Amino acid sequence: MKNMKKILEELDSRDRIAISGHIRPDGDCVGSCMGLYLYLKKTLPTAQVDVYLEKPAPVFSCIDRLEEIKTDCSAEIVYDVCIAVDTAADRLGDAEKYFRAAKKTINIDHHVSNMQGCGMVNYVNPAASSASELVYELMEEELMDASIAKALYIGIIHDTGVFQYSNTTPHTLTIAAKLIGYGMDFPKLINETFYEKTYVQNHVLGRALLESILFMDGRCIVSVIDKKTMEFYNAEPKDMDGIVSQLRITKGVECAIFMYQTGQQEYKVSLRSNGKVDVAEVAAYFGGGGHVRAAGCTMRGTYHDCINNLSLHIEKQLDSYEEEVK
Ligand code: AMP
Ligand code: MN
Ligand code: MN
Repeated sequence: MKNMKKILEELDSRDRIAISGHIRPDGDCVGSCMGLYLYLKKTLPTAQVDVYLEKPAPVFSCIDRLEEIKTDCSAEIVYDVCIAVDTAADRLGDAEKYFRAAKKTINIDHHVSNMQGCGMVNYVNPAASSASELVYELMEEELMDASIAKALYIGIIHDTGVFQYSNTTPHTLTIAAKLIGYGMDFPKLINETFYEKTYVQNHVLGRALLESILFMDGRCIVSVIDKKTMEFYNAEPKDMDGIVSQLRITKGVECAIFMYQTGQQEYKVSLRSNGKVDVAEVAAYFGGGGHVRAAGCTMRGTYHDCINNLSLHIEKQLDSYEEEVK
């Protein structure tokens, strides 16, 4: 692995630099991209730095200069450097063209499904809790400030479920401790960006829980929200965040599946595991990816087809796990 401090040395103060994260950006994606953006704006004031993301959820408006995010990728620009953060190039959405055309590409990611990295220079570490943790490691401490710290802290709390998931390490907590040292109202940030739900989100969550089905002898749980239901509640894809986490904590469950409809016979699938199933492997089989305990993919077919196909892989893994421990 390339010395991480060297990665930012790849950048020059005369460069045109683009930063982008994955489609449907989550807290880590927004936090890591914005943390890096704020840092580069500060440390390379003469460079042109642009950050491209799909419009983040309103809760992230507490991040400074969030309004500077570019959502329109129609301009034809050849950047000197394009940095993909929290993803491989194939999930950059419209900004993928800037990555493909850039003279130099850098990839900062923590997805086990992207071990090789997609850049000319890569900083990929699946042991990291979040891309925000990796972005923090690239920065010189004396050049950090409260705005950068807040963006990265939000990223870390989102990908660790407020330091609850098993991806939280002593190193993660050390970084978080340093970040809150820059001064921020962290209980408010945690509450307003992570726990707080809109009325619509609570309605859809309630509906998804009510209609969830336990199967595989209670080891697996699934729930589906179709387009009609989303329209009924006036819910957007962003409002589906967190539903799968609630399904995962059902007693006895090893693996949770949540799907919402994105098109005619097309579903966005979220998978969560309590450890026995490697859901990154399951998702990768269907063209997606992620982490061992949290992964996703998009699937085509009826939702019954999707569940049947997923179950085969999940059951195989559960059976072989149980066989091994016997
Ligand atoms: P989600 O269920 O969408 O919250 O995603 C769980 C984790 O898997 C996140 O870290 C995502 O970035 C990742 N992920 C979701 N979908 C994909 C995909 N199609 N390809 C690669 N990684 C994904
Ligand atoms: Mn992410
Ligand atoms: Mn992440």
